[in-house]
Amino acid sequence: MNILAQDIKYLQGVGPQRATLLANELGITTVGDLLTYYPYKYVDRSRIYKIRDIDGNMPYVQLCGQIFSFESIGEGRGKRLIAHFADGTGSIDLVWFQGIKYAAKNYDCRKPYIVFGKPTVFNGHIQIAHPEIENAPEDLKAKARTTGNLFEEETINPNLQESDFEAQPTFYKGLCPSYNTSEKMKRGGLTSAGMAKLTANMFKLLKEPLQETLPSYIVAQHHLMSYDEAVHNIHYPSSPEALRHAQLRLKFEELFYVQLNILRYVKDRQLRYKGIVFNTIGENFNSFFYHHLPFELTGAQKRVIKEIRADMKSGRQMNRLLQGDVGSGKTLVALMVALIAIDNGCQACIMAPTEILAEQHLDTLRAFLGDMPVRVELLTGSVKGKRRTEVLEGLVTGSVHILVGTHAVIEDNVLFHQLGLVVIDEQHRFGVAQRAKLWMKNSVPPHVLVMTATPIPRTLAMTLYGDLDVSVIDELPPGRKPIRTIHMFDAHRPRIYQLMHRELQQGRQIYIVYPLIKETEKMDLKDLEAGFEEISRAFPDYKVSKVHGKMKAADKDREMQHFANHETHILVSTTVIEVGVNVPNASVMIIENAERFGLSQLHQLRGRVGRGADQSYCVLVSKYEIGETTRRRIQVMVDTTDGFEIAEQDLKLRGPGDLEGTQQSGMAFDLKIANLARDGQILTLARDTAQAVITSDPEERNQQNNILWTRLRQLRKTNINWGAIS
Ligand code: ADP
Ligand code: MG
Repeated sequence: MNILAQDIKYLQGVGPQRATLLANELGITTVGDLLTYYPYKYVDRSRIYKIRDIDGNMPYVQLCGQIFSFESIGEGRGKRLIAHFADGTGSIDLVWFQGIKYAAKNYDCRKPYIVFGKPTVFNGHIQIAHPEIENAPEDLKAKARTTGNLFEEETINPNLQESDFEAQPTFYKGLCPSYNTSEKMKRGGLTSAGMAKLTANMFKLLKEPLQETLPSYIVAQHHLMSYDEAVHNIHYPSSPEALRHAQLRLKFEELFYVQLNILRYVKDRQLRYKGIVFNTIGENFNSFFYHHLPFELTGAQKRVIKEIRADMKSGRQMNRLLQGDVGSGKTLVALMVALIAIDNGCQACIMAPTEILAEQHLDTLRAFLGDMPVRVELLTGSVKGKRRTEVLEGLVTGSVHILVGTHAVIEDNVLFHQLGLVVIDEQHRFGVAQRAKLWMKNSVPPHVLVMTATPIPRTLAMTLYGDLDVSVIDELPPGRKPIRTIHMFDAHRPRIYQLMHRELQQGRQIYIVYPLIKETEKMDLKDLEAGFEEISRAFPDYKVSKVHGKMKAADKDREMQHFANHETHILVSTTVIEVGVNVPNASVMIIENAERFGLSQLHQLRGRVGRGADQSYCVLVSKYEIGETTRRRIQVMVDTTDGFEIAEQDLKLRGPGDLEGTQQSGMAFDLKIANLARDGQILTLARDTAQAVITSDPEERNQQNNILWTRLRQLRKTNINWGAIS
């Protein structure tokens, strides 16, 4: 039987109770699960310190010496046991508050020990509480024995010499694993050290080398450590060098299989689904391009439209991600691509994450199209009754050419005559499952264009959206002045008001945004209400709107509309305005408690201004005392307006797990060892290698690759998240 598949219960040191703990707390049920429960750090125990060299600031030290007396102090709860410990260069106290009996019984004054723990200073004397203690290695004992006088009982101040404890040459424990455990586990004896015992027992079981999990040609090609060696060294590194090799090997493998899974899915999708072929650029596109387009397209917009056009006539279904910073003109691209679909007898559907955005898209598209014979309709939760029936009918007959809507458009009763293109705006609110639902609306799946203004770092995109081709609009329409970003403290309010007054006098409008992390948090709402009151008082000559998530949708829309129509001058709101809203006359964005926002979110908010030709400002207000990371985050915003740069920094400062959208992306993945923020190079290597496998062996006939497909099947079975992709 395969040892890795064995129930963890039967591993030495586990038993039924701990097995339950392992299963509940870590999801470990088999020996194989334990094998892939990697340490999160390593403690260097290759070095033995001298007592005279240690101080209370060292994280951990390892000492070699002898206990020369025990002392019991205090009563009841305050009771503790102290062992006076010396190594010939000085002495320290080992202290126990718990497990006193055990310690007194198991350690004695005669033997040399290796002691490990964190030194702290207490009453001017260094002590180690609850040290890990083990017998010193054999040859040291032999030496100690020959130095007879050292071990006389009751020796209070033994005449120890430094040379009596020269253990380094033979004692080498090296890098010791630290495992994450929970409080519950610790109570059940599964501390990090407890886990280390289990992994040690596991390796005793694994007598045969573990089977290789990558084809030998790939291992050779990248000079990787063997799988067996890598898992041994990841738990018990034989040297720092070996640890690095083991990490590289396991990270590569992990990322490789994620990529292989994605790329194989892409290949299957291409084989399974033919794409509708859009042959012609016809009447609508040309008429729009030559007669209705109010401005010259940017070079980036032209390039992107060409890329999309090439996809749509290729005979393959398009699945493309369009990344473009806020204000880069994605809506126009969507419209022009939709016109191509219409020219080829198809309908297009544009999906936005909120009603406000959907309505805004509707207005924008209609304004762009002017008197062109293209019918654009809206479908959201608020479109009801007769209106709704009309829209639904128009979709079935084909008289509606472009449908703009929220996720209401994916409901089952929304049927199209011939849906040829789906555009999803602000992707991070939609999951893969929802995307897939739209495909089903046509016998041949429509082309899919996913648009996002949240720039995604390459490494993340390759994993989260690894099944999509990527186009980038890396150019803003001409004539935009970069937004000036300023960091100010609460105390600077008079200066902020000055700036506001100046801009208002010039007829501009202002956003003030408050954080609202959960819509239920009363505190936040209070901040916003107080802010609203204060602003209304401070600017009596101007009208102030207020919008937050607790309001009814209709009220929210009305207030937004007032602001958009310039009927109000200042909009005080929570992050409901985050995505997409377009009020070109607004020139100041003030973000309160900026320290509470993520970088991408700040960038999105900032993108609400700077949409006209005049100078715009973004003021990030924070309290005076902020942490170092927060200060750096805000500084990134001050230093750059480049969304990609910001996204990279965000990934570095926060780590990929926290990035907005990763949870909802639908293509969730569970990385055990690789880190998308740091392992970009390994990821690129892994993706290229996986692509080479798919390209060179599309029919999966190469015997050498069998191991890959078997392993992939296994991984997909055991890792639920991976299943999400197909
Ligand atoms: P986003 O990419 O954030 O969705 P929008 O599509 O809302 O950006 O475009 C922002 C603004 O820029 C809109 O007012 C739009 O009309 C305008 N715009 C788009 N393309 C161009 C262009 N080529 N030249 C000038 N203005 C443009
Ligand atoms: Mg947009």
